[in-house]
Amino acid sequence: MAKRIIVAGGGHGGIACAAQLAAAGYEVEVYEKHARENMGYDWTDIFDPKSLRYAHLPMPAKDKYEYKINMTFVPPSGNTLVRQDVPENELEIKMERRDIYDLIITHAEKNGVKFFFNTEIKGAVMAGDRVIGIETEKGNILGDMVIDACGCESVVRHSLPDICGIQKHTNSFEKFYVYRAFYNKASEEEPEDKYKIYMLPNGRTGIGWVAAEEEYADLLIGEFEPFTVEEAEQKAEFFRKDNPILGDKVLRGGYMAEIPVRHPLSIMVADGYAAIGDSAFMTVPIIGSGLADAFKASKMLADTIIADKSETYSAETLWDYQVQYYKALGAGMAPLALVKLLLAKITPQQLDYLFDSEIMDADMLTISADSTSLGSMLSFDPSLLGKAKNLMKDKELTTTIIRLGRDIGRAAAICATMPKIYGRYNVQRWAKGYDRLFRLKK
Ligand SMILES: Cc1cc2nc3c(=O)[nH]c(=O)nc-3n(C[C@H](O)[C@H](O)[C@H](O)COP(=O)(O)OP(=O)(O)OC[C@H]3O[C@@H](n4cnc5c(N)ncnc54)[C@H](O)[C@@H]3O)c2cc1C
Repeated sequence: MAKRIIVAGGGHGGIACAAQLAAAGYEVEVYEKHARENMGYDWTDIFDPKSLRYAHLPMPAKDKYEYKINMTFVPPSGNTLVRQDVPENELEIKMERRDIYDLIITHAEKNGVKFFFNTEIKGAVMAGDRVIGIETEKGNILGDMVIDACGCESVVRHSLPDICGIQKHTNSFEKFYVYRAFYNKASEEEPEDKYKIYMLPNGRTGIGWVAAEEEYADLLIGEFEPFTVEEAEQKAEFFRKDNPILGDKVLRGGYMAEIPVRHPLSIMVADGYAAIGDSAFMTVPIIGSGLADAFKASKMLADTIIADKSETYSAETLWDYQVQYYKALGAGMAPLALVKLLLAKITPQQLDYLFDSEIMDADMLTISADSTSLGSMLSFDPSLLGKAKNLMKDKELTTTIIRLGRDIGRAAAICATMPKIYGRYNVQRWAKGYDRLFRLKK
């Protein structure tokens, strides 16, 4: 009899994984709280199209996407701008979020996945320390395993017993509170820099962007502390001063959302359970892009499930998914997660200094050869420390940067020692050591 896989929440990686499993003969059901027509946000996203092919997803029709423009990074003072120059074959695509959902849901349905929309999940159903299903407002749904694609604050992950060792909630500096809106264009004059990323804008600990599009100006404000839409409107004034193109009439979006910006979950699996996408914190720290890595992870998870000939879907058999993920993508996020903590630690003046003295330069802020997503453009350049002579003028900053380099080295070393075979004690001990690295030390 075909094994029954339950996907909790219609996250992108979960749906992509569902499609691959259904194609391989599994009975797969996706439970999602929204109606199909309300899936996704009212805005566009940027991601690496190669991730679609990797996850056996179709490419969208040509009129559904366009190639993204290069970003310009703006330090707090606005003085030294750093402009990317991304090679053409590495460019990412921009698509409406609703079109992305249409593409992947249609494909999954064609492969035989059954969707249950308008179904709110309350938590996991447990038998001892094994996840055997999900509790929904319409009753319990049981299956052979649960794929948690419920996003950053997944109720399934929150409800897991401590014995699984999986981090339930995000800590400080692990998530961005984000406001995003498309405004009218207040000026027809094309700005020189069409896509500006602001670091620590207006002295705030976070980022912002302003992108000049054909029909609107796109504003995003992301901070580590929550704020309201009214406060976002006030914050928008800062960006308007620097961007005459940014009007004050909200055309689309205009609401808050949350994005994880931390290293991936250090334990992603339990007996009968695997987390994917934002529920496993698979976004790129600092920027928060998560689509490409969620799609890539979907293939690793589907392959691992299919390879489990014992059909137990235990933490032991699912562990290979985490090993594959860390090897291909997860370990590479650690430097970025540590650089993100640097943003939480240093002053705007110190960040300006890093830009002015070319320590943060185009190389550091430009795409890596093996691009996985928008944020991979923020690849960390280990030669940073070679530029240390520029730093010597600021002793405190020098110490901070040297510590950063040391922590990046430690993260690589700890990732290399991740257990290859699952044992609850070993894995939890490893995860504790790894997570400790990312606690903010002042
Ligand atoms: C403002 C903003 C801009 C972004 N821009 C980009 C970008 O340009 N490029 C990029 O790659 N990424 C971007 N991201 C990140 C991206 O949205 C996520 O990383 C990506 O969607 C992967 O997350 P996910 O699909 O796993 O989770 P989500 O997108 O959070 O999806 C989770 C799903 O689970 C459902 N769900 C949650 N709880 C329940 C419940 N209790 N019961 C039933 N269903 C539930 C939700 O309704 C949702 O459909 C952006 C995010 C934000 C907020």
